[in-house]
Amino acid sequence: MKTANQYIKPVTTRINDRGNIEIGGCDLTDLANKYGTPLYIYDEATIRAITGSYKSAFKEYPQIQMMYASKAFMTKAICKIMEQEGFGLDLCSGGEIYTAFQSGFDMTKTLFNGNNKTYEEINYALECNVGIISADNFYELGLINDIAEIHNKKAEIILRVTPGIECHTHEYIQTGHLDSKFGFDLTQTDEAVELILKEYKNLKLCGLHAHIGSQIFEKQVYYDEIEVLFKEIKRLQDKYNISLNKVNLGGGLGIKYTEEDEPISVFEAAETITESIKINSKKYGINSPQIYIEPGRSIIGTAGVTIYTAGSSKQVPNGKIYQAVDGGMSDNIRPSLYQAKYTVEVANKPDETEKETVTISGKHCESGDILIKDINLPLIEEGDIICFYDTGAYGYSMSSNYNRVLKPAAVLVNNGKSDIIINRQTYEQLCESDVIPERLKFKE
Ligand SMILES: *Cc1c(COP(=O)(O)O)cnc(C)c1O
Repeated sequence: MKTANQYIKPVTTRINDRGNIEIGGCDLTDLANKYGTPLYIYDEATIRAITGSYKSAFKEYPQIQMMYASKAFMTKAICKIMEQEGFGLDLCSGGEIYTAFQSGFDMTKTLFNGNNKTYEEINYALECNVGIISADNFYELGLINDIAEIHNKKAEIILRVTPGIECHTHEYIQTGHLDSKFGFDLTQTDEAVELILKEYKNLKLCGLHAHIGSQIFEKQVYYDEIEVLFKEIKRLQDKYNISLNKVNLGGGLGIKYTEEDEPISVFEAAETITESIKINSKKYGINSPQIYIEPGRSIIGTAGVTIYTAGSSKQVPNGKIYQAVDGGMSDNIRPSLYQAKYTVEVANKPDETEKETVTISGKHCESGDILIKDINLPLIEEGDIICFYDTGAYGYSMSSNYNRVLKPAAVLVNNGKSDIIINRQTYEQLCESDVIPERLKFKE
């Protein structure tokens, strides 16, 4: 059975009787009029379809806890949806902890990740009762221990390790290979465990964590990852006579950005994972450990689209047509950062048959601010609404105020209703943190 991550468009996408694209029962041109552009639109039905798929796919293995990787897209409303869906949260900064806490999330169902957590962040995590901390390196072990001691707590930790598995994805989003900034090398785990057992009395080691990369299309890597982790757990348990019953497998399941992408379904991933758990539990004599997975992109990527309004265009003599839109690298850095490709349509005339090849550029002062190159689209006129699919993950969350462009709004659509989940930033908010020192205010 296909799952939502295998579709390019949100599950409710259709062309309505006005000939416009509609998502969640809302005409995209109406949303553009009501909220302005650029606008991020999230389809609630798609989010719940995919969380539902994860839940039923892992029914066979009740000791699994799904943790939504918040960094993909986080707002208080998303925290609420994840809570309703029974997901925990994978958090990786003080700001993400704060957002979850402010949304009223049960913080014991959260996990704190990152390769350079600060004193303040760890302190805040312990204050908020974050469930588990994934310790990434030796420096953090000492730091977490010291702060836990001040709180008079025993902090539950798992060790992030690099399992040495390469997945075929862009090098910037590979994380599980040996030469990576994340986690302990497997040759360093003995030293880490010894430190925890002998010196760090305020740490409770519960298990291991790995995350092999993002936008993963293959099953085999999950299979291999579990083998490596279980084998290491067995070795550490035997050597140090400890019990490690938590295994965090990370996230990474891919989505379909273009027709060329062929991600596996949530069911295929789950089947591989549960099968590998079964086989390796038996092989290494590890009794039904608690498993965590941390999907981000596959939960929220397909659900989100971005709409822009077409503005100026330029025909290079004997060359390309550049069509500019009212956003760009500030709301979607992925094309410039890792040559990410998207599927694009014109929301107010998706079916028009006369087409031309255009390059869609952003409005920023940077030649690299190109959202997509050489794409075949209906003839675009000023004011047309251009829709980029699959911008739900790592779009808003990586957005910036480059050129002091305001961050767009985000709306959640469902059954013909649309609700703001992030207000469009205002000029006042843009300058809110700016300070003019007194000495600059007076003329000499
Ligand atoms: C980024 C990240 C994830 C989520 O990855 P996706 O590809 O979005 O599923 C999960 N775990 C860790 C540790 C991460 O860094």
